Amino acid sequence: MTKPAKDIAFEIVAEDPTGARRVRFETAHGQVEGPTFMPVGTQGAIKAVLPRDVYAHVILANTYHLSLGDRTELVEKAGGLHRFMNWNKSILTDSGGFQVFSLPGKEVTDDGVSFPSERSGQRYFLDAEASMDIQRRLGADIVMAFDECCDHDAPRRYVERSVDRTARWAARCRAADLADHQLLFGIVQGAVHDDLRQRSIEQIADQPFDGFAIGGVSVGEGYEWMTRIVAFTAPKMPRDRPRYLMGVGLPEDLLSAIRHGMDMFDCVIPTRYARGGTLFTRDGKLRITDRRFAHDDRPVDVDCTCYACQSYPRMVLRHLHYAREPLYDTLASIHNLQFYRDLMTDARGAISERRYDAFHRSWLKRYGAATSIYECSALGVDAALPELAPRTPPSTTTARASSTKPRRKKKPRPQR
Ligand SMILES: [Zn+2]
Repeated sequence: MTKPAKDIAFEIVAEDPTGARRVRFETAHGQVEGPTFMPVGTQGAIKAVLPRDVYAHVILANTYHLSLGDRTELVEKAGGLHRFMNWNKSILTDSGGFQVFSLPGKEVTDDGVSFPSERSGQRYFLDAEASMDIQRRLGADIVMAFDECCDHDAPRRYVERSVDRTARWAARCRAADLADHQLLFGIVQGAVHDDLRQRSIEQIADQPFDGFAIGGVSVGEGYEWMTRIVAFTAPKMPRDRPRYLMGVGLPEDLLSAIRHGMDMFDCVIPTRYARGGTLFTRDGKLRITDRRFAHDDRPVDVDCTCYACQSYPRMVLRHLHYAREPLYDTLASIHNLQFYRDLMTDARGAISERRYDAFHRSWLKRYGAATSIYECSALGVDAALPELAPRTPPSTTTARASSTKPRRKKKPRPQR
């Protein structure tokens, strides 16, 4: 029996001529304002940061990591994911499939996917019903449908079968029991093929999901393809529901996706980059290990109001990083998360004032991130950006943050 979509009080608060939109909707744990960025707490915690210092509407936790061994029972015993994470606002869990599909030795059938345990080699099985059951027990506010995330370079015939399989799995997820408070989002796949994306949109949007996501991007296809997929797919997704771009990404990626009408994002980039020494500023990224910061007494970003920028100069952060002080991870993560939060706040403000295009251009110009010829020509700002160069080609995009997947292959990894 197909259940109707839930009343999430979804509202488009403002729309910009570019297609960017400011939205609002309700979950059982409060209001979500989009565009919004969701920090990732893979194992049930945002690494190195106290929950009270994570200012977000929604945070994300990974079903795969929270289902290993007896962890789901542990979360249940703790009173559910909100108590487990000490987080009283909204939580989203992914389906677990994304991690499983990256495992070597996986076997995908129409029923589901079997995969070997990394430790024992014993084979496990995950399907739509199992994913829904785990996510129901974890208790997040937003639950993701179980889908197949293809490799970006998978043969077209395979992607075609996979898109149809994802639609059938989506229907099985719709039929599964969830807790009353849980929203269920469907996922559009189709790799780099416009017609298969179109087919997936029709198949998924045909089902009464509470929100819709674009999956299968940021999996090594490269920036140009990602932008193209989002530009093609986003405007065709249902208007009256949240639109979530999974696993993306860098600040410039978010601004581009917002332009095409996406509302929600998640990525490990801010926190993972922070721990690795890369800090975001309005004037571009900086590597705290750089010698030029050794005696730099300025804050990381003079316009940032975070605790780190208010209390520690770059030279001290650099010292803490080299001294391997855990405090560095905390300060750097707090800063990068604040940067993403400010970015979303500024984007929402620009949409409300219907000046998103001007905001986007001036932001990129100051940040210096429009290193993609595709993006620059699309925006017509290439002349203003002297350091224009093609971004790393798809075959070598490993520098982009990899996923929270349990094991990495040598090929480019996604960002979740
Ligand atoms: Zn800061």
